[in-house]
Amino acid sequence: MELSEIFYSIQGESSFSGLPCIFIRLSGCNLRCSYCDTKYAYKTDFKLTIDEILQRIKEYNSVSLVEITGGEPLIQNDTYLLLDKLLKNKYKVLLETNGSILLDKVPKDVIKIVDIKTPGSEMSDKMNWENINYLNLKDEVKFILTDRIDFDWAVEKIMENNLLKFKVLFSPAIPKLNPKILAEWILKLKLPIRMQLQLHKIIWGDRRGV
Ligand code: SF4
Repeated sequence: MELSEIFYSIQGESSFSGLPCIFIRLSGCNLRCSYCDTKYAYKTDFKLTIDEILQRIKEYNSVSLVEITGGEPLIQNDTYLLLDKLLKNKYKVLLETNGSILLDKVPKDVIKIVDIKTPGSEMSDKMNWENINYLNLKDEVKFILTDRIDFDWAVEKIMENNLLKFKVLFSPAIPKLNPKILAEWILKLKLPIRMQLQLHKIIWGDRRGV
């Protein structure tokens, strides 16, 4: 498989934020979001077989939470097999995906964190809305917001698609949107939407491998 990095850190996003987690960042992405903070993952840094990946992450023994991220993990055909093997090896598996690729082949026990691309990402037309049919109640939907237009768009999509039955995450695209402003908007809205900041960046700054 084609990879960008494998590392162990504090999970900085999603409802799993704060937990120790192994990250497997696969390389390559089919989108080009305006605020992308992992452009380095567009290119491949190294290749490993699935068994070699499993061997590599064994060094973090007793850590059972693994996130497959990118780039966009689902552009590699072997990702489905990797997810399956991680589950068989008793890992709790998170999959961070950009919403553009059909989720029908993702094993059901994988917890999907689906990024719904807002207008400010300049990629919102790439969302495959059929994916809502492949979400389970344990899954999470994430909106990265750049401004009020994104916020109102996200609320509209949440209502139209009955997304509040899943965990809904709103994240400000810093520095485009100030977190305090987003917090005020969410408080006024009074819906069970979880605001998140990228905890790893607060701890270590905007750099790779954390
Ligand atoms: S989907 Fe993710 S990795 Fe791909 S361009 Fe958008 S933010 Fe970057």
